[in-house]
Parts: sequence; structure tokens; C-alpha cells
Amino acid sequence: MARTVIEVKELRGALPIPAAAARGAGAPVDARGRALRDLRISVTDRCNFRCTYCMPKDVFDAGYQFLPHAEVLTFEEIVRAARVFRTLGTEKIRLTGGEPLLRRGIEKLVAMLREALPGIDLTLTTNGSALQAMAPRLKAAGLDRVTVSLDSLDDATFRAMNDADFPVARVLEGIDAAAAAGLAPVKVNMVVKRGMNDHQVVDVARHFRGSGHIVRFIEFMDVGSTNGWRMDDVIPSAEVVRRIGEHFPLEPAQANYTGEVAERWRYLDGAGEIGVISSVTQAFCSTCTRARLSTDGQLFTCLFAQRGYDIKGLLRAGADDGRIADSVAAIWQARDDRYSEIRTAETARGRKVEMSFIGG
Ligand code: SAM
Repeated sequence: MARTVIEVKELRGALPIPAAAARGAGAPVDARGRALRDLRISVTDRCNFRCTYCMPKDVFDAGYQFLPHAEVLTFEEIVRAARVFRTLGTEKIRLTGGEPLLRRGIEKLVAMLREALPGIDLTLTTNGSALQAMAPRLKAAGLDRVTVSLDSLDDATFRAMNDADFPVARVLEGIDAAAAAGLAPVKVNMVVKRGMNDHQVVDVARHFRGSGHIVRFIEFMDVGSTNGWRMDDVIPSAEVVRRIGEHFPLEPAQANYTGEVAERWRYLDGAGEIGVISSVTQAFCSTCTRARLSTDGQLFTCLFAQRGYDIKGLLRAGADDGRIADSVAAIWQARDDRYSEIRTAETARGRKVEMSFIGG
């Protein structure tokens, strides 16, 4: 399969002229009636892992051009953007990437966000490689919780999937450290890919049962244009639930809130719960309230988007907060995305922005 990485410059969309209706409108809703509740902020496009389904080594190699420093949003710019989103109804911020713990001083950004946005739900998604050392500092800075990616407990499978020869034991230590620091409940994300790690589904469920941590099994998605996605490689969540349920009986649990990404399942014996994220087989676009701010300050309204809107340009051109809020509101009001509902083999082959850049 031909592997092309979309140049960031090609992706920029024109900023919609703020609609009069957006001005002062408070919390905007999009063309499908969805609010702007969650903001994911990619704080770096770099990662120390080369997960084969996300940043394959043959593309993200020594010659790959990551963003130059000057293009990356500063902490001050991130906080300002977050404050603007807050005025538009955003209740939850997730720091991601790339690998967010690679961003120098990330705990300072957490502290700045916590101070600027008291009461906001502030979380972070990490590969866990640096979590053991950083968990206490992140908690002290005001982080609420972490989600840790962990695709296998089997060391050989884990090393093969991260393609950086990183041992699984270090990530497990990171999860323990996060829980000990109070960044709980820890969520553990496992991307399930047929023939690669699906033999680990029951083992991972068994390992975390009764721990208080919540494993979420994620269907392998056609994000970006470089991961060689094929429908045949997707294990439907229904199969994950069936496989686990054969060993540990499960029952469906109520969503915690409308628009929750993971569908919850509870162990009948009271040993906790799991989640399944079924973007491929059970699209949840109709309740998607997530926006993404890329490392270089572009706003994306869908994980599978082909283009973003340049918010950094506004931040650096001296626009005041009201003008930026109007622009974001206008972009959101024009939003009509529902990629997962209309996914076909054809769209899956289409050009999409990489997840490491847009923020997972
Ligand atoms: N570096 C951090 C990490 O590893 O969690 C944050 C960024 S990563 C892009 C965020 C999440 O996206 C991870 O849980 C990762 O497993 C998931 N992910 C990446 N590519 C995926 C794909 N093709 N399908 C499903 N999930 C994917």
C-alpha cells in the first residue's frame, strides 16, 4: 500500500467568517445539534514509541519532519485557547499527542490550566513510559486522571507493537504509580488488532479485574493515512465482550453521561467494569462533542478530518478572546462531520490527518 503523509500546510481550511448568530451566543451547537463539551489538545507531535497502527516506523523515521519549535503552541497560547473554549461550553480537557509526557515542563502546563480553569475536568492520555517518575508531579499540578495505553501484557507482543522495544513492565509500574498518586480511576486503553494482540484480550481483562482500573478495548481504526488499515484486522467490540464474558460474565452498564465514548460493561461478580470503544462497528458520531487542537494550533472537528482551521494564526495576530471565540463558534456551528457513520473501504483509503499530530 502506498503510504503518504499529508503535509500540514495542505490541510488548512479557511476560517469561516464568524456568523452574527455566533457572536455572544455562549455555547454553540453544530449542524447536528452537538455541543462542544470536550477539547483534546495535542501538546507534541513526537512520540518515543512507533506503534505500528499509529506511527509506523517506515514513515515516522529519522528523516520525518516533525513540527519546528516555532510552530508549536506555547503553554500560554494553549491556556488562552482553552479559556476561550471554556466560554463556549467546554467542560473537559484531555492533553495528548504524540506522547504528552515528552513535552518539557508538561506539569507546568497542567498547573497553568488548573489555575486558569478551576473546576474543569483535566485528564491526559499517555503511553505510560515516563509515568512512574511523573505521576506524583502531575497530580500535584492539578491533573485529575490519566489514561494509559497498553496493548498487551505479553512482553514480546508489547515490544513488537510499540516497535521501540519498550518493556511492558515499565508501563505497568507507571499505572501503579498513577493509582498511588491518586490519578484514579486509571483507564487503560488497549487497541485490539486481529492477529497481533487479540489473543491478549482475556489476559488483559483478567489482569485488571478487581484493581479499580478500567480497561477500554478499542477497535483498530482507520485514522491517518499510514497505518495500512483493513477492515479484516478489526475485531468488533461485540466479539471482545463475548470472549471476555465467556470467562467472566458481564452485563451492560448505563453510560455515565450522554456522549460517553466507551460503552460500559460490568462484571457480574462485582470485580469492576470494562469499556469498549467501537468507532468502526457502532459509530457514535451522533453524540460526539469533541474538538481537537493540534500541536500547531489547528482546530479539527473530527478525528478523521482532512483539514483543520488555523487558530494559532488568530492567537498570534493579536485577535482578542472574543474574536477567537466567535471564530471557534462559527467553525463549530458549521460542523457536520459524521465520518464513522459513512465509513467505507473507499473513505478509509482517503487522505486524513495523522492521529499523532491531531491528538488521540
Ligand atoms: N502517546 C499517547 C498514548 O500512547 O496514549 C497519546 C496519543 S495516542 C495517539 C492516543 C490513543 O490513540 C492511544 O490509546 C492509542 O492506542 C490510540 N490509537 C492510535 N492509533 C489508533 C488506531 N489506529 N486505532 C485505534 N486507536 C488508536
